[in-house]
Parts: sequence; structure tokens; C-alpha cells
Amino acid sequence: MGILLMLVHLSCLVLVIRSGNLNLITQALEAVGCKMQVIPDPTMVHFHLPNNLSVRVHREYEKFIQELTSYFPHEKEGILKFFGECWKIFNALNSLELKSLEEPLYLFGQFFQKPVECLTLAYYLPQNAGDIARKYIKDPQLLSYIDVECFLVSTVNALQTPMINASMVLCDRHFEGINYPIGGVGGIAKSLAKGLVDKGSEILYKANVTNIILDENGKAVGVRLSDGREFFAKTVISNATRWDTFGKLLKGEVIPKEEENFQNVYVKAPSFLSIHMGIKAEVLPPDTDCHHFVLEDDWTKLETSYGSLFLSIPTVLDSSLAPEGRHILHIFTVSSMEDWEGIGKEEYEAKKQFVADEIICRLEKKLFPGLKSSIDFMEVGTPKTHRRYLARVDGTYGPMPRKTPKGLLGMPFNTTGVNGLYCVGDSCFPGQGVIAVAFSGVMCAHRVAADIGLEKKSPVMDTMLLRLLGWLRTLA
Ligand SMILES: Cc1cc2nc3c(=O)[nH]c(=O)nc-3n(C[C@H](O)[C@H](O)[C@H](O)COP(=O)(O)OP(=O)(O)OC[C@H]3O[C@@H](n4cnc5c(N)ncnc54)[C@H](O)[C@@H]3O)c2cc1C
Repeated sequence: MGILLMLVHLSCLVLVIRSGNLNLITQALEAVGCKMQVIPDPTMVHFHLPNNLSVRVHREYEKFIQELTSYFPHEKEGILKFFGECWKIFNALNSLELKSLEEPLYLFGQFFQKPVECLTLAYYLPQNAGDIARKYIKDPQLLSYIDVECFLVSTVNALQTPMINASMVLCDRHFEGINYPIGGVGGIAKSLAKGLVDKGSEILYKANVTNIILDENGKAVGVRLSDGREFFAKTVISNATRWDTFGKLLKGEVIPKEEENFQNVYVKAPSFLSIHMGIKAEVLPPDTDCHHFVLEDDWTKLETSYGSLFLSIPTVLDSSLAPEGRHILHIFTVSSMEDWEGIGKEEYEAKKQFVADEIICRLEKKLFPGLKSSIDFMEVGTPKTHRRYLARVDGTYGPMPRKTPKGLLGMPFNTTGVNGLYCVGDSCFPGQGVIAVAFSGVMCAHRVAADIGLEKKSPVMDTMLLRLLGWLRTLA
């Protein structure tokens, strides 16, 4: 099987290594005989929001709800009802054996075993978190808080975030909590790679795919690399975004109708600016949490470039990552490619320094006085860095609905309009984030296994289901 490259870029705000059916990273590691040593993260994120709203998302659900309701006692019932609906979805998902929703034998099998759970998910499929929040919650500030929570999941507000995606993240962090792998999140990719090689697979690094090769019937049969090498296979799975797969790797071919629909419903979300720093430990107050989200004084700046700041300090959990007396600080914020294109090298370097200085200044005021003078090392990455190292068009974070979506209804799965070609990753169902892309990988593996005869399949039912799913997507 030809695989484009599946090195998942991981940051560390939401990381899941635990039990339950949604523990896909643990399951993947186990499948290749790996187990990682982890440290429980007591606080998934500490929010620093307008009007001095300072909420920590504790590992323990009750403690988190207590903290949130202490700011909004008049909305206690609404908070419990909203999160209660999230749990309903999470529990349904977590109880199912997660495989390809494009595979009818599996789908009907699950339906007969767990009809209530399947119907629950079908009911929420076309719904967004913001609409459900508004059924129970009236306080505008609390609704803005829910927007922030959803922004962390999808980079858009709650009204545009599918309820299923929101529920996956809002509950997963409390279901046995988040565990941080000792040695850093890069260890997950390294362990998976080692496990695969130990099981007899071969992984090719520095392999830049420039074309997907089609045969005379238009079937995907292989890939061509930038150094001219070609690899042929029964199946090609692209982990590049759907925009890159169809706009770059299949350049010159007619874009299938399904992909046109996808591009009509979703646009590319902007990219990010990242600052990686090494800082002196004494600048952090005692008991500083590992992850922070800062939106200083204006809720309306949530989605704008440089409006809100994400921070991770992994050395709070694992001090072995930095020299003694030092911490690692990773800061990132929304930034668009347009801000960085068309400028010369010197101007580009000066702009990086200017933008970083402004962000450091904001953090000095809000969280860490003296931050600037405590910096030992700093590197700034822009949307161009994301584009270059992840090969993502415009360095995009992933798909963002063009207008209010019908939940997840419009998201394509793994099969494509090109025979033999599958897509996987964040521009496929169910979208961005590590848990979501791991789910998309599991779904794709199952669909491919059925198509190459490793799993049972029914060609007649397949055609009917794929048609039905295609039709449903046109309703989005
Ligand atoms: C700054 C930042 C912080 C984030 N923080 C979190 C977080 O805390 N929690 C969370 O759940 N999610 C987070 N995310 C989102 C998460 O990282 C993504 O949703 C996820 O990594 C997407 O996975 P993917 O496999 O679809 O794509 P990618 O991670 O982009 O992986 C695609 C891979 O394919 C390779 N590739 C692409 N084209 C080619 C080609 N032509 N030839 C060869 N190889 C190719 C790329 O090099 C890359 O390794 C964050 C994202 C960013 C940018």
C-alpha cells in the first residue's frame, strides 16, 4: 500500500493516552506493541478571559463545573444541561467500536448492537454546539466562554462548531483525563514509527510526493517523488489536505464533483504564528499550569489574527525536557499567510521580531512579569514555516465552514471520486485535532482493508451507502 506520509504534527494542549473506545492513540500504540510512560495533566487548560474570568479546566469534571458555576451561579442548571448533552454524545461514541462509517456491514452491525447510541449520534450529526448552548444558557458572557472552548477545538465559534466535535473534546479531557508522554509529544510519532518498523513495515523519510500517478483508466496506482523515484501500489492514501491532494498532487486532472462540493462548503482556516522559547524558571509563579489561553479584554477579538494566545509549558509536567532552572514556552496565535507574503528577507525577520515582542509584552502584563528579560533562546515560526514544513497550502490549520454548517453533515469521509485514492487527516470527517485525525485514520484503514479484501464487504450495499452519504453531503 502506498502511503504518502503520516507523521502527525502534535502540539500538546489536548493529548489522549488512556482507556475507552475513543483512546485511539493508545490503541494504535498497542497495535504495534508500544506503551508510553505518561504523566497525568491536572489542568487541561487555564483560561484567562475578559472581565477577569479565570477558569481552569480541571481533570476532575465536578471540580471544573464547580469552578465555572462559581462565576455563573445563575446559570448552573444551563451549564449542567449543556455539558450533559455533550456527555450523551461522548458516551455514545465511546461505546461504539470505531471503524469506517463508509462500510455498510460494520455500520449495520453496530446499529443492531447499539441502536440508541447510533440514533443519538445521527440526531446530533447536523447540529452545532452554539445552538445547543443557547437552548440552556442566556448569559452572553457564558456563551462567549463556550465560544472560546469551541475555538480551541475548531478555530471558529460555537455556532459554527459541530456538536459532535465539541463533545469529543469537552468530555474526553475529563474521561480518565489527559496524560502527557514523558520525553515530549514527539515521542508518540517516534514510538509508532518504531513499532511499525519492528512489525516489518518500511517508512521513507524526506520523501516529498509531487504527483499521484493515475493509470489509463484514471485509477490511482502510485506516487512520484520530487527526486524522480516512483512507487506503485494497490491503494494510495493521502495525508496531505484535500486542497493539496486535488490542487497540487493531482494538478491538471478534473476535480471530482465531491471535492468541488467540499470546497464550496469549507474554506481554509488561517494559519498560526508560533514562538518557541527557553526561559529562566524563576519567571513563572509557583503552581503555574502547563497550558494557558489568553484573551485579554475584548471577546470580539477571539477569532482575529493575534487576538488570542495559546501557551504550553511542557516542562511544568516533565522537567527533563529542559536544562535545570529553565522552562520551555510555546506560544501560538492565529496568523494569515497574507500578512507574511511579498516582503523581503530582512523585513520578514524584522516583522517576526516585532510581532513576537508585542506578544511577549502582552504576556508580561497578563501573566509573567519579567518574561522578556528571562528569555535565553527564541525562535519564531510564521504561516510560511507551517507551509514549508507541513506542506499545507497557505499553512492552513484545516477546514473552516464558509457559513454556518449543518454540523458534520458536509464533511467528506475517506473515499474520493478517484478510484484507488483515499484521503485521511483533518480535511476529512470529523475534522481537526489529534483525536479527530486519529479517528479518520482508523476509519480509512478499515475502508481500505475492506476494499483490498482483508475485511468482509458487500459491493451492492457499498454502492448504495456511498450514494446515500454523497446525497446527504449535498444537504450541508
Ligand atoms: C500550532 C498548533 C497547535 C495545535 N494544537 C493542538 C492541540 O493541542 N490538540 C489537538 O488535538 N490539535 C492541535 N492542533 C491541530 C492538530 O495538530 C492537527 O489537526 C493535526 O495535526 C492534523 O493532522 P493531519 O495528519 O491531518 O495533518 P498534518 O499534521 O499536517 O500531517 C500531514 C503530514 O503529511 C506530510 N505531507 C504533506 N504533503 C506531503 C507530500 N506531498 N509529500 C510527503 N509528505 C507530505 C506533512 O509533512 C505532514 O507530516 C494544533 C495545530 C497547530 C498548527
